[in-house]
Amino acid sequence: MKTFVMKELHKVGFSDKQVPEAGPNDAIVKTTRALICTSDAHTVHGAIGPKTNITLGHEAVGVVHRVGSQVKLFKPGDRVVVGAITPDWGDLASQGGHSSQSGSALGGWKFANIKDGVFAEYFHVNEADANMARIPSSVSDEAAVYCCDMLSTGLMAAENAAIPMGGTVAVFALGPVGLMSVVGARLLGAGLIIGVDSIPKRHELARFYGADQIVDHTKANAVEEILRLTEGAGVDSAIEALGADEVFGNAVKATKPGGTISNAGYHGKGDSVNIPRLDWGVGMAEKTIRTGLCPGGRLRMERMLRLLQTGRVDPTRMTTHTFKFDELERAFDMMDKKLDGIIKPLITF
Ligand SMILES: [Zn+2]
Repeated sequence: MKTFVMKELHKVGFSDKQVPEAGPNDAIVKTTRALICTSDAHTVHGAIGPKTNITLGHEAVGVVHRVGSQVKLFKPGDRVVVGAITPDWGDLASQGGHSSQSGSALGGWKFANIKDGVFAEYFHVNEADANMARIPSSVSDEAAVYCCDMLSTGLMAAENAAIPMGGTVAVFALGPVGLMSVVGARLLGAGLIIGVDSIPKRHELARFYGADQIVDHTKANAVEEILRLTEGAGVDSAIEALGADEVFGNAVKATKPGGTISNAGYHGKGDSVNIPRLDWGVGMAEKTIRTGLCPGGRLRMERMLRLLQTGRVDPTRMTTHTFKFDELERAFDMMDKKLDGIIKPLITF
């Protein structure tokens, strides 16, 4: 079968591989739609170390091709969404409520990290009953594919931000995760949502998804603007959806004492992330920092799918470009360099 791989650091391309086999609890899925993620570009540029010939991609939906003998809930032909994070549910971290960290830190993240990813005609799913969800007939593949990562991660960022009903929220960076964090903040009852980004297309989408105010950090000091919009108080909750030291620092600065900083950004560079000491109240201002990796699991994906089914959110507005699988090299380059206002490129198989 045809797959799209990271050949070595900074180098991608197509490669032929065998169709994977299913163990007793596993499934093999025939890919129908996938999304490229900024994390795929981080991976290619070495954020998780060198890799050789590993299939990229972790956001895909498809049709079940084969199931193992112990799989109870799915059969060939089922249309399914597969989590970007596919934990080992018997692991103690999972039993402790941290399934994304099963096996090791970030160990629930297997696709294009510790095994081949989903940019392939077929891909393998471990613990299929727990890591896939059936897509309702009223939900399109193009919408469901956002449940793999973007919707789950964005909503997680809002959940981790401990937003009080009617409280104030700042979302730093309005890429797909930031935009879905705006959706999450809105659904959780935020009273004021401030989005921070410089790109006009993202401003428009953020307003569509529920941002009340937009701050362009290239035209004004983001922290000062957030303080102005909150009458000097700072926000109850700040969401970091980029993964940059300076932005993380601004999130700490813009949060009021007692507030929460929720990190969803993938900090792919440098040896450390700095916390601005004085703005953190020398460690005593009761500013909580929470972090997380996209939660996986069938229960959560079924909840995300319900939000699509009832029209609470339409993630397909974020699909700015569509490519065929054999055009993936060009699509990847565009996503890597963020060309042509790209937000989320959809890949059709
Ligand atoms: Zn992703």
